[in-house]
Amino acid sequence: MYYWAIHFLPVWDFLRRTAYNAGMGDFIEAQAAKSTSQIDQWLLGGGRVVTASERASRALVSAFHGARQAEGLTAWPVPNVQDWKSFARASWEERAAEQGDGRLLLNTAQEEALWVEIAAQDRSLATLLEGPRHRLASLAMEAHQLLCSYAPRFLAKTGRSAWQQDAAAFSGWLTAFDETCNSANLLSPSRLPLELIPMLELDSSQRPPLLLAGFDRILPLQRRLFDAWGSWQEAAPASATAEVHFHAAPDAQTELAACALWARRRLALTPNARLLIVTQEASACRGEIERAFLRLADPGAAPLFEFSLGIPLIQVAPAHAAQLVLRWLSAPLLEDELDWLLSTGLAANTDETAALQATMRALRQRGMERTQWTLDAFLGQHLASAMLPAAWVPRILQARRLLQATAHRRQTPLEWAELVPELLDAAGFAHTRPLSSAEFQAIHRWQQALETCGSLGFDGRRMSWTEFVSQLDRTLNETLFAPESRDAPIQIAGPAESAGLTADAVWFLGANEDSWPANGPLHPLLPPDVQREAEMPHAAPQLDWDLAQAITNRLLASAPEVHFSFGRQTADAETRPSRLVVPFAGPPEPLPAELSAPDTPTPQTETFEDFSRVPFPAGKAEGGSSVLTSQSQCPFKAFATARLAARGWNPAESGLTPSQRGQLLHAVLHSVWAGPPDGIRTSDELQDLTDRKSFIARHVETVLQKEMPRAAREQMPRRYLELEEKRLIRLVGEWLEYEAARAPFTVAGTEVDRNLDLAGLALKLRLDRVDRLNDESMLVIDYKSGNVTPSSWDPPRPDDVQLPLYAGFALDDEELLGGLVFAKVRTGELAFAGRVGDAAATLFPGLPKNNALMKNPLTAEMLLDWRDCIQQLTDDFLAGKAEVDPREYPKTCERCDLQSLCRIQEHPTQFEDEDESENGEAADE
Ligand code: SF4
Repeated sequence: MYYWAIHFLPVWDFLRRTAYNAGMGDFIEAQAAKSTSQIDQWLLGGGRVVTASERASRALVSAFHGARQAEGLTAWPVPNVQDWKSFARASWEERAAEQGDGRLLLNTAQEEALWVEIAAQDRSLATLLEGPRHRLASLAMEAHQLLCSYAPRFLAKTGRSAWQQDAAAFSGWLTAFDETCNSANLLSPSRLPLELIPMLELDSSQRPPLLLAGFDRILPLQRRLFDAWGSWQEAAPASATAEVHFHAAPDAQTELAACALWARRRLALTPNARLLIVTQEASACRGEIERAFLRLADPGAAPLFEFSLGIPLIQVAPAHAAQLVLRWLSAPLLEDELDWLLSTGLAANTDETAALQATMRALRQRGMERTQWTLDAFLGQHLASAMLPAAWVPRILQARRLLQATAHRRQTPLEWAELVPELLDAAGFAHTRPLSSAEFQAIHRWQQALETCGSLGFDGRRMSWTEFVSQLDRTLNETLFAPESRDAPIQIAGPAESAGLTADAVWFLGANEDSWPANGPLHPLLPPDVQREAEMPHAAPQLDWDLAQAITNRLLASAPEVHFSFGRQTADAETRPSRLVVPFAGPPEPLPAELSAPDTPTPQTETFEDFSRVPFPAGKAEGGSSVLTSQSQCPFKAFATARLAARGWNPAESGLTPSQRGQLLHAVLHSVWAGPPDGIRTSDELQDLTDRKSFIARHVETVLQKEMPRAAREQMPRRYLELEEKRLIRLVGEWLEYEAARAPFTVAGTEVDRNLDLAGLALKLRLDRVDRLNDESMLVIDYKSGNVTPSSWDPPRPDDVQLPLYAGFALDDEELLGGLVFAKVRTGELAFAGRVGDAAATLFPGLPKNNALMKNPLTAEMLLDWRDCIQQLTDDFLAGKAEVDPREYPKTCERCDLQSLCRIQEHPTQFEDEDESENGEAADE
């Protein structure tokens, strides 16, 4: 086999452009040339190189090709480089084929499926549920692998006879596993080296000598296998580095920021430099690391870093989207899953995606959100069916029909795996949107995961569609995906994955006493004394120490400049420097000044004072009185909601939301006071009701039948709905009891609509209720089930202008205002709260003077102040005043959904002082 070179590059140019392992940069010329040339010479001499990992193997192959290109060759033999696992597997397969060994070598999913089946037969509490059963099976598989690698003598059943408790349970599973493998002619990959050793010992043929590269530790089993192979040796380690630093940062965030700043400065000085960041938190803190490095990147530029370790495939958009489409054909999706799926543009073409998203928005705006959406529920909404894209509906239905034709059967995994592409094809998945290179690779990887699931029929098992989809979910979770390397100048890797990598400079994060050497628990399914005796990972502190020391030595030899760092303070404790690093690097020093990140990063935007205003063209504004309420709370909020139609996004809840409960209460009270034929209108009629409870129950029942949101009716148990009905009957009963004590009144209207024109601003108001009092004046009422206070109407910036607006501008000329009140319909807190001209005469006879309604009566000055304030707010809105200026920071913002639009978090300090002064003045009733 020959590799055909297409480009010709000077060798060091090539090496600089490719990867660390290739021995790049000036350092590599001087320092790593020794090991590179040793490997090169070994390969040219016909030897074979075995690496610790696939990644190290790829890098060596790449370096070899680069060197041949640099020599001006156009063709050369493929270098004999294999990672450890591929080496063992290929060697076994070659000999097994010769000996006619017909056993099936299991893949990971197949082996795990066997362990799951064995664990399920245990029938203990821990294996009853699917999740714990799979976790236990995976632990058992791991324990089996440890025994194979470290203590193969315990693979014999007799060796485990004294094991107790969990170890004894595992021992039983292992016996069952062995019996299954023997009877079904199967072989676990963990056993492969053990099988290979005697084969090699019996085979006297000549084999190429082995050179081992990138091994931090050679396991006893590996050593036995290499001995059986014949001649082998380890690649000579490079000599130790020249310059080592150890930094102490105040905390982990500062440490990470300093590392990112160092990397940026290093690349600014030497653009071709290759930097290696080593961290044990590469997976757990991936987001924080990404943010730290992106923060210092030039805006719009491609990231200068990449992680060597992939992320679970299920977290990669195309794979996750395909999985959601498959699940949706037979089961509900969570609301946020559906939102996400529709946002990817993979479930439909561009126009259809926009229409589907608009449908979801419209459903929410009408309060029809659900926590879960089945396909039927989504397609069956009257509103949705009118808005859904015409071509998408038949496609998704066709996919579902295809599935339904077989979904009731138990099929082989292979049959399900073959059906999946047909289903996605019918649904039009990823048909029109162009895929990026990374997405294309992810889909390719997803297809491989699908094939892996299809291979689960190896023992003739059949499964339901639901079981197959769950299995695919698990496989996607366990499959790591990383797009092909972009050859970024900063590589971020874990200590183990960094094996075989070299760079111009290395920074090791988290070198504190608790984390380095890394420690971990003993394996829960193996006896501790067996683990200690066999020197399994984490069995003794000395073992962890030795491994960490080997990795540290290797890192010190992999670059001319190596930095270690740690944060003195973690979330809950102070930490000390790693005792392993101090002997190499000396005691840690505080971070140098040039690596102290600025408190606030350099802004990437130009700021300027924007005094421009875009006047509102006279006419109707959506939102009624809330337009002016918003203008008072925060001018930007009014601008965004009334002029840009911006809306918050409230997640659906399983039961009724507080807002839906409030709407139902309003509807019942509206029904009660709607007048004949079913309702009442006056206090006399209220007094005359002979059976008030039955009267209320009838209204509640009618309202719930008409108004209960469909999602709640379908999803909530009947008992929940009955309790909701009882709650409403009780609450409305208590409220009518309260109103029965009032002075005589007549309800002039409920849900009263009024159209207002304020200097050209047309608003449509709707008021809950207006009563005519015993002195013929009008009482304006707003029902509230939350905690409210009339001080929210106080100028100059009222928190709510609805009632003052109605009282000041919406009454007919001949109507006299008697008062405006919130009707607080809350259990245990039933009351009118507001401003009334003479509450003792018109509302509750004999009301004590210290009652808030008496202490703060409605006055002409109040009305004038409200009027002026509302006129000012109207003028401001019409003039286009749209500053981000919350009335009471942060309280006002906490009740607002527009933070992502106004970006208040970017400038919170600007408002904090105002908040303090306003808090001092605030005085609620
Ligand atoms: S979050 Fe605060 S600042 Fe932003 S629009 Fe809402 S009220 Fe105004």
